[in-house]
Amino acid sequence: MMKAVTFQDIGSVAVLETPEPTLELPSDVIVRVTRCAICGSDLHLYHGEIPMMPGDTCGHEFTGIIEDTGSSVGKFKRGDRVVGTFHTACGSCNACQRGEYHLCASAAVYGFGPIYGALNGSQAEYARVPFADINLRHIPDKLEDEAALFAGDILTTAYGAARNANISAGSSVAIIGCGPVGIMAIQSALALGATRVIAIDLLEERLQLASSLGAEIINASNSDPVGRIMALSDGEGVDAVIEAVGGSRTILLAFEMVRPGGHISAVGITATQTFDYPLMQSTTKDITFRVGLANIHRDIDKTLALIANGKIDPTVVISHRLALEEAAEGYHLFDTRVASKVILIP
Ligand code: NAD
Ligand code: ZN
Repeated sequence: MMKAVTFQDIGSVAVLETPEPTLELPSDVIVRVTRCAICGSDLHLYHGEIPMMPGDTCGHEFTGIIEDTGSSVGKFKRGDRVVGTFHTACGSCNACQRGEYHLCASAAVYGFGPIYGALNGSQAEYARVPFADINLRHIPDKLEDEAALFAGDILTTAYGAARNANISAGSSVAIIGCGPVGIMAIQSALALGATRVIAIDLLEERLQLASSLGAEIINASNSDPVGRIMALSDGEGVDAVIEAVGGSRTILLAFEMVRPGGHISAVGITATQTFDYPLMQSTTKDITFRVGLANIHRDIDKTLALIANGKIDPTVVISHRLALEEAAEGYHLFDTRVASKVILIP
């Protein structure tokens, strides 16, 4: 048996003894988890917006050490230090062959309930990784697990969103939301050559972190973010907007602050099924609007290199390190925005 963070009910997780995972297919490996984290996406389960079965293990951000390998695993051996991608891909279906790993026909997200593949979560002492050769990366020697952890999800999500926003040398960028994903988007935009990054949030503490990374900041709780962006950009708007909150309200804000011909990349996940698309505004301003799940496998080698080269330090978002047993407290701290990022140590 092992300890694992399990979903109990809306607003309630508990660390319980659960069965240790075992190899199920020759392409599986078992990882002994060294670090895992609580993600903004986990809060959607915690809030009951995405269905989760009581007793199921939560979590999808993790690093670890290979404990056991299936017979067809070629790239990893017992003892290797690895980071997992937050969702799995098979590597051989049509989508994977096209490099669209996030659209894999048998994709699953660890610990994300029945509609995302019913794969056990990684906030646990051990995790089973399917198609391990595709869904793990070695952690470069000079990188701490805690830094590499972010390449498996939020850093690479944010980096992909920045790529999808067409950010390149000289771009001006607005980033709505300075949660962990927004903070990583600021770092990614700068790494891609943006010369001006304007960060928007409602919480002063999160904005101060954004400022320390080189962003200009707007507190939308006491000022009009669209008016401020226009004032900062000769009334034109910015080249690119990354929406990192989730929900139609902030997506619609992005349409207001992007310049004609600009790009919007929405990365926030929301339970909202539809929203009124600003068709006329999008047409007359000739806006490119991108939204979609992150293609972690496309960008993870690049983001691991950016961390290893010191270009990006994702650990700046960590506010709390707790033992796995303290996960319930960790969820509460993150949910109430006392914590900006919680690392759990099994
Ligand atoms: P978070 O909830 O910690 O951050 C959201 C931030 O937005 C907070 O700092 C909050 O104060 C701010 N905010 C709320 N309303 C705002 C407003 N009106 N204007 C400006 N700021 C506002 O979450 P996170 O971990 O940073 O994740 C952000 C989103 O990205 C979540 O919806 C998460 O599910 C999603 N996500 C998506 C993917 C993907 O593959 N697309 C991967 C990981 C996370
Ligand atoms: Zn996540």
